[in-house]
Amino acid sequence: MSTVSTPALSVVIPVYNEQEGLSVLFARLYPALDALGQSYEIIFVNDGSKDRSAALLARQQKARPDVTRVILFNGNYGQHMAILAGFEHTRGEIVVTLDADLQNPPEEIGNLVAKMREGYDYVGTIRRQRQDSWFRRHASRMMNGLRERITHVRMTDQGCMLRAYGREVVNTINRCNEVNTFVPALAYTFSLHPTEIEVGHEERAAGESKYSLFKLIRLNFDLVTGFSLMPLQFMSFLGIALALASGGLFVLLMIERLLFGSQVQGVFTLFAITFCLLGVLLFSMGLLGEYIGRIYEQVRGRPRYVVQAVLDDTLR
Ligand code: UDP
Ligand code: MG
Repeated sequence: MSTVSTPALSVVIPVYNEQEGLSVLFARLYPALDALGQSYEIIFVNDGSKDRSAALLARQQKARPDVTRVILFNGNYGQHMAILAGFEHTRGEIVVTLDADLQNPPEEIGNLVAKMREGYDYVGTIRRQRQDSWFRRHASRMMNGLRERITHVRMTDQGCMLRAYGREVVNTINRCNEVNTFVPALAYTFSLHPTEIEVGHEERAAGESKYSLFKLIRLNFDLVTGFSLMPLQFMSFLGIALALASGGLFVLLMIERLLFGSQVQGVFTLFAITFCLLGVLLFSMGLLGEYIGRIYEQVRGRPRYVVQAVLDDTLR
């Protein structure tokens, strides 16, 4: 290990089955960073791609060994694990994350860095005009509002991964050992001076979104359970409210019976109410399960990801 200089800027890019888009990414990313006139390093994390992505990354690392490093996972551990693995290898004062699909234009990195230099330690982003489907746009707006209310993590646009983090924030994140996490929210909780800027947003250059609706819902559960206990408290309050209401109903029925004698009525209303309560009960159990499952995953303490190889020539 000889002289390892600290670059001004580290860029972390998770890659999962992006073979169609990678060459365009390289063609735009490197010139954009060279144009900044600052020392930088790029860390690609291959998240167990099943296509030729790993080979393309390895070739790129050969082409620009001075500024490129590649981490190869032995399987698919998810975008956020890939970013966390990248974080552990960063050396820069400012760390920028970027998607490999070119939905976040690399040319915006300069603006992020400029904003960081104004003294912020976390720069989030808001996509100027989103190029996603109507459904994706509205689904995320709803989720955003709900999530913000529950977790108190203020992110106007949680979906955009083009973000900048200060060294201290990244160091703190590196000390976390969370199995299910959401990097921007984690960073927000540790940051002292967060801010947001607007960035451009483009259509996916090639390939398809790796997030199905199911994965999107899972991610939001991660966010809510990972950053708040409010759903559990909400359940307790709902329980109290329901108990009080049914107590009141019982008193009412008793009085009615004393005044008017026994009546057999409203059997089906009873059914409806029972099933409604059953739904509430199952939902709360499911919610509890969401927490418990995550606790279990955390407690098992398996490695969060396994690195197969690191392609790195910068240490020579
Ligand atoms: N990604 C990853 N592992 C996964 C899924 C996605 O590393 O399991 C990467 C993917 O290659 C891309 C980024 O995460 O660089 C964002 O993925 P995608 O564009 O599919 O998400 P979307 O833009 O639809 O939210
Ligand atoms: Mg994308």
